[in-house]
Formats: sequence, structure tokens, C-alpha cells
Amino acid sequence: MNVPLLDLQPQYAELKDETDAVIAEVCASQRFILGPQVEAFEAEVATYCGTQCAVGVSSGTDALIVSLMAAGVGPGDEVITSPFTFFGTAGSIARVGAKPVFVDCGSSCFNLEPEQIEAAITEKTKAIMPIDLFGQMADMRSIMEIAGERNLAVIEDSAQSIGAAHHGLKTGQYADLTTFSFFPSKNLGGFGDGGMVVTDNVELASKCKALRMHGETQRYHHQLIGGNFRLDALQAAILRVKLRYLDKWSAQRRGNADYYNERLMETPVIAPVVYDFNESIYNQYTVRIPDGRRDTVQAHLSEAGIGCAVYYPIPLHLQECFAYLGHSRGDFPESEQACTEVLSLPIYPELTDAQQDAVVAALLECCG
Ligand SMILES: *Cc1c(COP(=O)(O)O)cnc(C)c1O
Repeated sequence: MNVPLLDLQPQYAELKDETDAVIAEVCASQRFILGPQVEAFEAEVATYCGTQCAVGVSSGTDALIVSLMAAGVGPGDEVITSPFTFFGTAGSIARVGAKPVFVDCGSSCFNLEPEQIEAAITEKTKAIMPIDLFGQMADMRSIMEIAGERNLAVIEDSAQSIGAAHHGLKTGQYADLTTFSFFPSKNLGGFGDGGMVVTDNVELASKCKALRMHGETQRYHHQLIGGNFRLDALQAAILRVKLRYLDKWSAQRRGNADYYNERLMETPVIAPVVYDFNESIYNQYTVRIPDGRRDTVQAHLSEAGIGCAVYYPIPLHLQECFAYLGHSRGDFPESEQACTEVLSLPIYPELTDAQQDAVVAALLECCG
């Protein structure tokens, strides 16, 4: 049986009538940039996350860039983040002229460890950028304590984790600014690129709004230099439909994860660790395959028609473009080890038990 890593077709089929209708509505209005659909979507995301403000932007990466700019991060500043993440996290820090300062991820879950952050703080540190990797929030309560003592801004890269919770509070309710991505493969995905910044800080929100329009506060009056970071009305209209299903999909993802967790106990494959105080939405279901066997297992699964992928094969401190930071192999051992052990398995909401059985069977064949 072929099991794709992600199949967006069932979700599209489920919502086709609804999405077709709103697409037609936007086309009839001929208002494609910002406007009422984007405003309504912003209000709905703010309500969903329990935050005061939400600002729609052009992508998850642009949400990070706009947040960094709004927080006043620029040349000469240091921003602490993890080397085990999607490139966009550290790329955005460098893009605004600041220096990404890496801190190793934890050994069990893949997020920043608060204890390690303290040791990396210098007088140049301006912000901390934790990542909610694979659907599970970083230890935001502890991170906010550290940031509060030192007066640092916290920008949470939650591109993979809208809807996740930490000590009962959703992503968005901890950091100064929290960012989401609506890239089609994310748990809340549009029909193209899109992103959002959520915050309780009204001043930061209005700065983000100005920055997405070339820093314009009033037509043709620019107090800041921003960019074109706007969200399309079509994406907002489609995402408004999808947002109504998000909790159902998250529950289905968790159900799929429970099923795998149980079945994988029979194998040497290590199921993802979720802290007691966290509720994951399993954007990815990422296992560890130790002892240098990951690549063999991946090859076997691919041959058996099981979709799987390595998020991420190279830690960011070893990327060519960050050579100027002067890191070498061995600097962040947990991140480096994660890169050699991780494998993400199909977890999308509509996955059937039979498909999951096929995934487990293929795993048992090569590492039973
Ligand atoms: C997807 C992702 C981004 C970037 O989002 P885009 O919408 O593709 O720009 C940033 N950070 C993380 C952790 C991501 O997974």
C-alpha cells in the first residue's frame, strides 16, 4: 500500500464546496490585497489564540522578519535560537542584520532548553527566538521568565504549531510576538503562501501593520522602512474556512500519534517525546532511529511506498551561508545527533488505520 507523507486531497475534497464559494466571493469583490477578508481572518485568529491582536502577512518567514523589525532588532544585536529548525528561523535573524546565536536543542524533545539559553546571553542579546518544532511548544513559561529578568524580547516561531498548548495556554499567549505560517503543508495551510503575527501588545501590532505596507502609517507617509509583506484576501478567505476545522484536525492528528506510539513500542524506533505540560498538534510525527540506521530505514520505507522525510538533515550552524559565524561540527551535539536520527512519518488527519498499519509493518520489516 502506498502511503504518502502528506495528502492534501481528502481535505480539499471535504471543503471544496465551502472554499469554492469564498473564492468566488473574493473574485466577485475584486479586492485581493488585505481588506475585509484579511481583517476578519485576523480577528478570528486572535480569538482562536486568545491574543489581543493579529496581523496577516505574506508568509511565515515574513512574519519572523516583520516581528524582528517591530521589536527593533537589527545590526549589532544578537538573537538566541536553535540550530535544529527550518532555515527561515535563523535566516530571518541574519536577514535583518542581526547575529543568530545558536544554543543546542534538548536531548528528548527537539526544542530550546531554557538552562542553555541563560549561558548564551551577552550584553548584545536583544531577543530570544524559540521554535515550537513539529507541533509542540518550547518551554515558554521558563523562557519568558529568563527574558523578563533580562528585558529581552521573545519572538516565538510557531510556524508549525498553531493550536498547540503549554500549561493549558495556546501558542500566542506567552511570547511578545508569535508567528505562524500558512504554507500549504502546515497544519493550517492555505492555497499558497501566507503568515500571521499574533501579540497582546497593541503598539507592536500597529508597528507590524505599518511594516507590512512599506512602513506606511498614513497613505504616502512613511515613519519606518518596511516591505511588501501583505496577506492576500484569497488566502485569508480560504484560511477562514479551514480555521473552523483546525481543532478537529488536531484531534485526529493526536489520535494518529497515539496509535503510532502504541504500535512503535514493539520496535527500536523511539516515538516523539511530548512533555506533560504540553499538548502537541503533531504537525510532524518525528521519530528517532538510533545507531546509524536511519538512512537504511528511510530507504526501506521509500521502497515500500511509505512517504517519509528528514526534517532536518543539516543543523543550521553547519550551513555554508553561516560559515562566518565560525562554528564547526561538535559545537551543538544534540542538534547534530538529531539530524542523523530523525525521520518524520505520515500523520495528516485523514490517515486511515490501514495506512498506519502499513507504515508500522514496513518499519517492523527493517527494524523489528
Ligand atoms: C515553515 C516554517 C517557516 C517558514 O514559513 P513560510 O511560510 O514557508 O515562510 C519558519 N519556521 C519554521 C519552523 C517553519 O516550519
